Amino acid sequence: MEDKILLAHGSGGKLSHDLINSFLPNLANPILNKLDDSAVFELGGRLAFTTDSYTVNPIFFPGGDIGKLAVCGTGNDLSMRGAKTLYLSLSFIIEEGFPITELKKIVASIQKATDEAEVKIVTGDTKVVNRGSADKLFINTAGVGVVPEGVNISAANARPGDRIIISGNIGDHGIAVLSQREGLKFQVPVPSDCAPLNKLVAEMLAASANIHCMRDPTRGGLATTLNDFAEQSNIGIQIEEDKIPVDKAVLAACELLGFDPLYIANEGRVVAVVGHADADRVLAKVKENKYGASAAIIGEVVAEHPGKVIMKTSLGASRIVDMPVGELLPRIC
Ligand code: MG
Repeated sequence: MEDKILLAHGSGGKLSHDLINSFLPNLANPILNKLDDSAVFELGGRLAFTTDSYTVNPIFFPGGDIGKLAVCGTGNDLSMRGAKTLYLSLSFIIEEGFPITELKKIVASIQKATDEAEVKIVTGDTKVVNRGSADKLFINTAGVGVVPEGVNISAANARPGDRIIISGNIGDHGIAVLSQREGLKFQVPVPSDCAPLNKLVAEMLAASANIHCMRDPTRGGLATTLNDFAEQSNIGIQIEEDKIPVDKAVLAACELLGFDPLYIANEGRVVAVVGHADADRVLAKVKENKYGASAAIIGEVVAEHPGKVIMKTSLGASRIVDMPVGELLPRIC
């Protein structure tokens, strides 16, 4: 096999078969192995279904790559509704000339992430486009999961008195990708927080039946997620700057580059709105998980100022935390 992707690798012919067969040992499972036109499987109950496309630039960054991101991002979107993630589709759009060794590294990373997230790739597609028609590699994944009985999590469910939990430091992913892209060197390198959150979320749900909203604060960061909750639940949100966990290196990078960590993307964090009485118990559970060590309660839901997020700053002043306008960092995920 050539060491670069050729247009013929997307032709459906012999080279396509060889390429797909070279991935199969990594992703094998009884449903995928049939290689029929669509995957057939049994599912019961209420389903969660989502899709996302990944165009991150660069495709390799500290703490992850586009493959890990594609599995975690789509799996996490199912987890945020309380669903047990089950199956993913995986579609590659590859630019002609892309090195096959890099593709294999990404497939190996996909395998590692699917193993950890306990999700199976059951169908997929590979297309190759002419040089210049795509930038290296894009991935689309769709995912299905089953929502357990009694679980009803939505951005519209926040109620006054609820507490707001963030599962860890904010801004790591955005700064990791940006520093790799721009060749910035920080004294302490920042790895992306990219991670599958299925187990963390399952532990949270087992600890409390009063988790009202969950969302992974990806593009637009924590600020956007909180604004979504405030708008969709028609409640106010009050947070305290001093309680929001931010890594020192991320804070320093944000200051240097003129960014606000509230708006930087995360790929392995969950923001949860939890009934007041259960908040400490849920927080303690989150902190036990390896992806939740720096979790914190950062604020609460209030009846005042519906639709608005207000932050008490370190200096004791109050300011409105708005939705971001425009694209802060393109191709971050
Ligand atoms: Mg999401």
